[in-house]
Formats: sequence, C-alpha cells, structure tokens
Amino acid sequence: MNILVDSHTHSVASGHAFSTVEDLARGARERGLKAFVLTDHGPGMPGTTHPYHFSNLRVLPSSIMGVSFFGGIEANIMNTSGDIDLEPYILARLDFVMAGFHEICFEDHGREENTEALVAALQGPWVDAISHPGNPAFPIDLERVVAAAKENGKALEINDSSFRIRKGSHQNCLEIARLCVAMSCPMVCGSDAHYWEDVGRFDEVKALLDAAKAPEELVLNSSLERFQAFVEKRKAARQAAYAALPLRS
Ligand SMILES: [Zn+2]
Ligand SMILES: [Zn+2]
Repeated sequence: MNILVDSHTHSVASGHAFSTVEDLARGARERGLKAFVLTDHGPGMPGTTHPYHFSNLRVLPSSIMGVSFFGGIEANIMNTSGDIDLEPYILARLDFVMAGFHEICFEDHGREENTEALVAALQGPWVDAISHPGNPAFPIDLERVVAAAKENGKALEINDSSFRIRKGSHQNCLEIARLCVAMSCPMVCGSDAHYWEDVGRFDEVKALLDAAKAPEELVLNSSLERFQAFVEKRKAARQAAYAALPLRS
C-alpha cells in the first residue's frame, strides 16, 4: 500500500523538534508524498506552542514546495473527561485535530480511566483522530476505543515512531489495526517526525497494515482525495459544533 500523506509532523514550534515548515515540506517532497499535516504539540505541554501558533496557521499557503499543506495540532488529553488544550474557536479553524496522551500532561490512570478519557475525546466534537493509541504506557481497552472511533466517524493513528520510541507498541498497534479492519474503522498514518528526514517514514506502518490485511479504503493517508474528504467532513463538524456553543470563547 502506498502512503501519500503524512498526518503527523512537528516543526521547531514544538520546542523539542528541529526542522522548519519548509524543511518538513522538502522532506515530504523527497519521499514523494502529496501532502503533509503540521501537528505541533498543544500548548498544555511545557516549552512548546502558544495558542496563537494555531490561530495563525492561516498565514501558511495550501501548498509548500509543491506539496499540499494542512494545518493541524497534536493536542494533549488533559483529564479523564477527554478535554484538550486548545480553545474551541481555534479548533474550529484547523484542518486536522489529533489528540493523545503524553506523560507530562496526563499520567497513566489505569486501563479503565484511560479508556474513558479516549472515548470521551472521541465522542466530543473537536478531536478527529487519536495519536499513538497503541502506546503501552497508557493501557486501554482497545476494542472499546476502536468502537468509539468508528461510531463517531473518527480515526485512530498507527504511528511509525512508536515502534522505535514507545517500546512495546507493536502488538497493540497490530491489534488496533486488526480491530479497525474488523469494525471498518478508519486509520491514519503518522511518521511523528521531529526532524525533516523522518517525514513520510512509514516502513513499519506499511508492514503492520499488510499484516492486518488493511484495505486501502480504511487507510485515509493512502490517497490525498480520501484524506482531504475526511478533513473537510471533520472540519465542517467542528465548525458546526462551535457555531452551536451557547457562549463562544
Ligand atoms: Zn514531540
Ligand atoms: Zn505524541
């Protein structure tokens, strides 16, 4: 399977990543990608972005160095209610909102409460996809999380960096991919690049998707059109949810 979009990349704005947006675009082009998503860490993580970073993504063009560009976030899940660290008025403007657990913002609450947090995030209107749900540092009920993603029209990420950085992710990720196939739940593929050379690095993700016999139609990044259609649908849903808020912030 070909992966043509990288839906998880970090720039220098993340504070502990080392490439500019232009570097990331060059990396995407060199790998033959059609698009990438900038998903710097949410402001809840120390030493990373200010909320203005996300409201100002609109200054960036929709194509950089010949590669389509999407402005997004990797938000932090902050509590077991599934709340994330950016205001709705900015979330409504982004192309892609991913959220996940990071130790510095959310300590492991055990399987039951970790699962509740992810299910709540998936049921709410703001989060489009969960980043690295296969991280063994945060045990979850995989079946419940995949079912919640499917039910709410959301996606789960298979993260290539996890195989190197989050030790023990492989078995969980394979199980997630198999459950996604069984339940027809969409998946997204992220390199989680913190340096430009890693943009579009999907060797292990591809092998895992093959092992799970994942069909292309469930892998949103296997076509730009498929990824774009998901982005447009989710963005419209976030904008509608924001418009319906009684007191807009
Ligand atoms: Zn990071
Ligand atoms: Zn992450």
